[in-house]
Amino acid sequence: MRIEEELKLDYKDVLLRPKRSTLTSRKEVDLEREFSFYHSPKKWRGVPIMTANMATCGTFEMAKVLTPYKMITTLHKYYSLEDYKKFLEEFDNPDYIVYTLGIRDEDIAQLKAMIAAGLIAKFSFVCIDVPNGYLEKFLETIKLVRQLCPEHIIIAGNVVTNEMAEEIILSGADIVKVGIGPGSVCTTRRMTGVGYPQLSAVIECADAAHGLANNKGGYGLVIADGGQQYPSCIAKAFCGGADFNMAGSLFSGYEESGGNIVEKNGKKFKEYFGSSSNKALIEFYGNKSAHRASEGRYTLIPFKGSIHDFIQDLFGALRSTGTYIGAKRLKEFPKRATFIRVTQQLNTYLEQYDQGQ
Ligand code: 5GP
Repeated sequence: MRIEEELKLDYKDVLLRPKRSTLTSRKEVDLEREFSFYHSPKKWRGVPIMTANMATCGTFEMAKVLTPYKMITTLHKYYSLEDYKKFLEEFDNPDYIVYTLGIRDEDIAQLKAMIAAGLIAKFSFVCIDVPNGYLEKFLETIKLVRQLCPEHIIIAGNVVTNEMAEEIILSGADIVKVGIGPGSVCTTRRMTGVGYPQLSAVIECADAAHGLANNKGGYGLVIADGGQQYPSCIAKAFCGGADFNMAGSLFSGYEESGGNIVEKNGKKFKEYFGSSSNKALIEFYGNKSAHRASEGRYTLIPFKGSIHDFIQDLFGALRSTGTYIGAKRLKEFPKRATFIRVTQQLNTYLEQYDQGQ
């Protein structure tokens, strides 16, 4: 047994120090980034924020809404080949959709069928998504998917430590998805005791991934996945070195989100549930296998209206962060960022304030 004493941080543990800035307006802050990759020869340009591959936000409907904003939709794993065929007949913007698969034989079989049908070519990204990215089989799957999709931008996760971030890139992925336990409907920390404070996980994995570069300007990248309760958490993740942010609850509860509408005491709610919640396991896999405990929750989010208002607020908030820290482009956020540690009392105060709202 070993104990690590080094301080590890979550989004709520820090604030950003304001800095002198030559910017005259928030409008000047550019939220788009262009990336080259460690393996894939593609280039990508857009706003590097994406939905989680969850049933309530990784939907075809969401892709149609987010693509004009140059944001990415990571589609959930429950669509069939026929669903994809129909959707891709009318949707033709590969840069802003991600095809997601797991590591089961059925997942590989569907990927091969998607390739044979010429459908995978309509995606720039493929994501291999497992809750626990420390399994040998996960690394083997990355190698196999790289062989099957040599040109694609491959995302793989989730992990939280630097050595595994490196291993994932060296196994064939371009982008490491970082986060174990921070998700708003995730119960992994409670059920298993496993996890890592998310901001530190992002900082450490980004440092490791960015250190792997090729001779064409491509380098390893990371996605901060889960736990962003507010736009400020997305800003903090970018400041910590995240190249992309992936979020679930922030994109759920809207008119355009998936999930049923539920009425309670005259108020409207929308469903939001973890991919390992009992609801998801029963609805999408037909049962919960005997050896498996649920590691996700089912929640109802008070109906939030149109997602377009949220996106406007999110972009406005990120531009404002840029103005406060003196960063003209999203790319400059980490260079300009100084984190200040804050006390638990401040968080308690903010939570009480939120509850009073
Ligand atoms: P949120 O944005 O809601 O805080 O977190 C979304 C992220 O939570 C997802 O991208 C995914 O990584 C994670 N997640 C989604 N469903 C589950 C689940 O049922 N269990 C766990 N452990 N994590 C989940």
